[in-house]
Amino acid sequence: MLVLVINSGSSSLKFQVRDVEAGSVLAEGLVEKIGMGTGGEGDGQPEGPRDHAEALEQVDAEIHAALGDRVLDAVGHRVVHGGERFGEPVLIDNEITRAIERLNPLAPLHNPANVLGIRAIAKKWPDMPQVAVFDTAFHRTLPEHAWRYAVPDELYTNHGIRRYGFHGTSHEYVAHRAAALLDVPVDEFDAVIAHLGNGASVTAIRGGQSVDTSMGFTPLEGLVMGTRSGDLDPSILVFLGRAGWSPEDLDSMLNRQSGLKGLAGNNDMRSVVEAAEAGDARAAMALAVASYRLAKYIGGYHVAVGGAKALVFTAGIGENSHQFRTLVADRLGALGVQLDAGLNRERSKEPRVISTPSSAIPVLVVPTDEERAIAEATAAAVTHSSVAP
Ligand code: AMP
Repeated sequence: MLVLVINSGSSSLKFQVRDVEAGSVLAEGLVEKIGMGTGGEGDGQPEGPRDHAEALEQVDAEIHAALGDRVLDAVGHRVVHGGERFGEPVLIDNEITRAIERLNPLAPLHNPANVLGIRAIAKKWPDMPQVAVFDTAFHRTLPEHAWRYAVPDELYTNHGIRRYGFHGTSHEYVAHRAAALLDVPVDEFDAVIAHLGNGASVTAIRGGQSVDTSMGFTPLEGLVMGTRSGDLDPSILVFLGRAGWSPEDLDSMLNRQSGLKGLAGNNDMRSVVEAAEAGDARAAMALAVASYRLAKYIGGYHVAVGGAKALVFTAGIGENSHQFRTLVADRLGALGVQLDAGLNRERSKEPRVISTPSSAIPVLVVPTDEERAIAEATAAAVTHSSVAP
């Protein structure tokens, strides 16, 4: 089955065409600057597409050459927020599109863009099956004691304020691959998975299910990220609000000016590691804050899962930065974690163990592939719907 995987942002559209059975990528690309004109008068930059429909024409032209005579069977969308309703990928119809739209207030930057992508496809290819794969869905198994904030109940009942969790597609995919690597049935797999990219989250897996995760109501809570603060005392916001900061100022500070960027002046982990190795004290401090935060979560989640059978690193930093993995593992001595320095430094695209045989918990690096997971979930949803009575 040929699946077009779409990750639609407000001004960008990332795509991949996957042959699900062959496990191959036939085409991929990124259309940027949607609806942004030339980006400034006479700046000489090529004009971006006017809207998502025009962006899709560009995608169609790009994939046409790669597909030859073959035709797409389905489209799978990465949808950021599925709220409390969606715990599984779903075949999209008008009612589902409206339900995703109703979740806009919970993900104002993401869900409206996802809906634009869905509507653009429906207009261009009205008979194309479309499937929504939600970033929150895997975390629908969180127990209430993990998803509740200790605030007045009406904030939950009237405004949906609770922890939802994100990166679910990646955490689920990586949990399955890690369990397979260790030869443990996934429904018996207890682990802590750290997805460390520009956005970062850590998830407690018990019996193959998510029982806690560090991102909450939005993807801001939890770990130190590229430009996001992660956890802080909420009173800081009250303090700054009283000092005249607007909600927009606070949003920008927390989401775009904080994290590694706020601490070290650079949001890119590779640059921060290089700076620290060259003796930059701010970069070293940023790495210490980020690795300490993650180590605290790992310790907590080891308890949450009743003793993890594995610690798994994934995404850009988790897969590539042996230095950051070392900084984290060095703080986990109390759990008996021991990295094998040679295995940790080895570069590979394959899932692998990087701990010593005597480590109390095996430490793994498992490359994530969200597009593959979305393509497979899309194929499964379409196949299931066509055989259902
Ligand atoms: P992602 O969002 O998964 O693409 O991850 C992006 C992050 O991965 C950035 O902070 C990159 O600096 C980091 N990254 C990618 N490659 C490396 C590398 N070789 N060493 C350290 N960090 C890396």
